[in-house]
Amino acid sequence: MSETPFVPRPCPICSKPSTEAARPFCSTRCANVDLQHWLTGAYALPAEEEDNIDEEGDGDGA
Ligand SMILES: [Zn+2]
Repeated sequence: MSETPFVPRPCPICSKPSTEAARPFCSTRCANVDLQHWLTGAYALPAEEEDNIDEEGDGDGA
């Protein structure tokens, strides 16, 4: 009862239906592409967190 059948989901890379062999990707090729994204992203962390400044608790009143 705990066995869930393989449900093909869209590949996060190319949106094609994923295969059970390379899930959640459609192929190992897309898996590699995703891996590259992770690697390059880890090497060059984009600093786009300057538009989300949390300044709460400053006593702004109502
Ligand atoms: Zn794909």
